[in-house]
Formats: sequence, C-alpha cells, structure tokens
Amino acid sequence: MQWALVCHGIITLLVVISFLCGQWPIFQGTFIEHIHNFITFGAYDYFLRFVGWVCGDRGMNAVLSVEFHCCNRSNPILQIFYLAILSTTYYFIVTSSFVYIPNYYLGEIHRYTSILAVGFGVVLFLLTSFTDPGTVTAKNVSQYISVYPYDNVIYSDKECSTCKIPKPARSKHCSVCDRCVARFDHHCGWMNNCIGERNTRYFMAFLYWHFFLCLYGAVAIIFILASRLKEMKIIYVLTVYYGVENSFRGLAPHLAQWLVGSYNTQILLMVFLAIVSLLMAAFFGYHTKLCLSNTTTNETYKWQDYISLQRKINEAKASAMALRESISGLSPESKPPESKWKSYFRRSPLRDAGVVSKINIYDKGIVHNLCEVIFPFSTRSSFMRAKEKSS
Ligand SMILES: [Zn+2]
Ligand SMILES: [Zn+2]
Repeated sequence: MQWALVCHGIITLLVVISFLCGQWPIFQGTFIEHIHNFITFGAYDYFLRFVGWVCGDRGMNAVLSVEFHCCNRSNPILQIFYLAILSTTYYFIVTSSFVYIPNYYLGEIHRYTSILAVGFGVVLFLLTSFTDPGTVTAKNVSQYISVYPYDNVIYSDKECSTCKIPKPARSKHCSVCDRCVARFDHHCGWMNNCIGERNTRYFMAFLYWHFFLCLYGAVAIIFILASRLKEMKIIYVLTVYYGVENSFRGLAPHLAQWLVGSYNTQILLMVFLAIVSLLMAAFFGYHTKLCLSNTTTNETYKWQDYISLQRKINEAKASAMALRESISGLSPESKPPESKWKSYFRRSPLRDAGVVSKINIYDKGIVHNLCEVIFPFSTRSSFMRAKEKSS
C-alpha cells in the first residue's frame, strides 16, 4: 500500500515537472523533455486522430481552431493556472500546518510573513505580466537602434515585415503578441507576456523570489515536523514501544513510518516545494548566467545556428583544401615528403575547422551587463537624448 502511494507520488511529480518545465534548456535531451513532448504533442496527435476518426474533418477543424486561439494567441490560461497552483498550495499549507504554529521552533510571526511572502510573489508576477516588455514603435525605434548597434553577425539592418519599421539589434517580432520587442528574451506563456528589455528585471526577481518562497515553505514544514517530534516526545515513545535502541539506524524506519502515517499531507507538500524550489534555482541560475554575459535566450539559439553554419562552411573549405593538397601531392614537382612524426603531430585541417569564435559585442563586463538589466536603456534619460542626436 505504501509503495503504491510512493509510486503514485513519483509519477504525479514526473508528469507535472515534465509538463510544466520540459522545455526548459536544462532538460534538453533528457527523458523529462521526451515525456513533455509526449504530453504536449504526442498525446495531442493521437487525440486529434481520434477526433478525426469519430467526428470527421469538421470536428478536427473545431479542435484546431480552439488550439490556435489558446496556444498561438495571447491568452490568460497559464496565468490563471499559476495563480491556482499558488493559492491551492498555500491553502493546503494553511489548513494542514498552521495549527502547529507557533511551535518550539517557529514563532507566530510566520503566519503573517508567509502571506506577505506569497503576496510579494504575486506582485512580482503581476509586474512581469503587465509591464511593457519594451515594445518597439515608430516613435522609439531610432533610440533603440542607437543603444543596440548591429553586430553584423547575428543582427544586421533589417525591417520587420509585419510592423514595417526597422528592426533594432536584439529585438524580435513576437508572433503571439504581434509586436516587435526590444532585447527580446522569450515569450513566456505563464506571464502571457514577452520577456524583454524592460521586464527582464522583474522576471529575474520573480524566479528568485519563487525559489526563496518554496524553500521557505519546505524548511518551515521541516521545522513543524521537528517540533511535533520534540513536543510529543516521539523518540522516547518509539524506543519504549518498539524496544529499539536510541540510534539513527534503530529509529529511522519507525520514525519514517510515523511521519508518513501521521503527517502525509505535510510531507507531500514539503517534497513538492523542495522540487519546485530546485527547479526555480536551476532556472534562475541559467538566466543569471545569461544576464552576466549579456545574452538573451533568443540569442543563444541564434549563436547556435551561427556556429553550426560557420563550422559547416569551415569544414567544406578545409576538405576542399585537403583535396587540393592531395592532388598537388600527386604531381611530379611536389615538395619533399613530410617526416612521419611531423605529419602525425600536424593538426588535421578538419579539426581546425571545428573552432568558431563567438564575439558578443553586447557583453561589456559583468557590472555593465547587470546595470543594463536592472536599469534598462529605455528608462534612462540618456535614451531620450539618443533620439535628439539621431534626429
Ligand atoms: Zn514586428
Ligand atoms: Zn510575446
């Protein structure tokens, strides 16, 4: 029975994590991504085929149009889902664990600080969701171009075919929001908003705060259980009842049984919070790394494309050169043959072809990069002057 409960817990968590976070870069190529793909595309494909089989083309078109409006147009489904997860988790914590506060370890103040912490999380969520991510308009496009010059590697002077205005470097046209966004990072379904020049700071604060929030919850539950243990003199009771010695090995199985039996809600909540806080930490770490090197998620994809293309070009060049060398080696007036050792240690031209340098002109040192996120260009007074200069 207990094993069934554990299996159920593991499967539920796997499904939830894969569904919510399977697309995150840290899970690329792992089984989490595969489960995510099955849940999001694979299973949906089967469902579509089933609808087509039962209801014919009309049914399938109806499903497709619902999907289009839910997934390719901005909509608040995931925002509502986030608020629902947050409020239900908090509700479960309040109903299951607040009766044990205050206790030996936690003061009554945690009843109030917890609601403040959750409230602050919601404020950061609303700030990220509803602030302008840095929409590029005909009015501000010249300023954006002057603060983000083209590097002529991954960005060159182009016009947005939809907005009919020049595309500043680092911007992207978001097809969901239907607008160009400066320093575009990604379109976040959870926020129903793009993450761009003006709201990356709130997004980072949101990630950090939710990491802290989940950790706070998990640690608070650990303290609640520890104080129950102490107040009910459980160690003493167990040693007397089972006649085991007062050691970790002797007590651990009985203690685990007592905890799972009496406080299963708290334990499930604690495991859930611990896992979410780890995910938040990983996601925050990834984005911090991007911020410190002044790169956006969108640019990591662009650099990947650029590097693999350059590698292919270099390889083609190197193999053409190797071919030319081997042909000239066949001709009678060739150079004296290279010693065996020399040719052994000579680097293969194909291996050299793999080296492609990435020069990010927007990376101007950690301090500058952080300032750019915390005080976006478009909020500075120099941004307005950039317009006067350019006009
Ligand atoms: Zn556009
Ligand atoms: Zn968007």
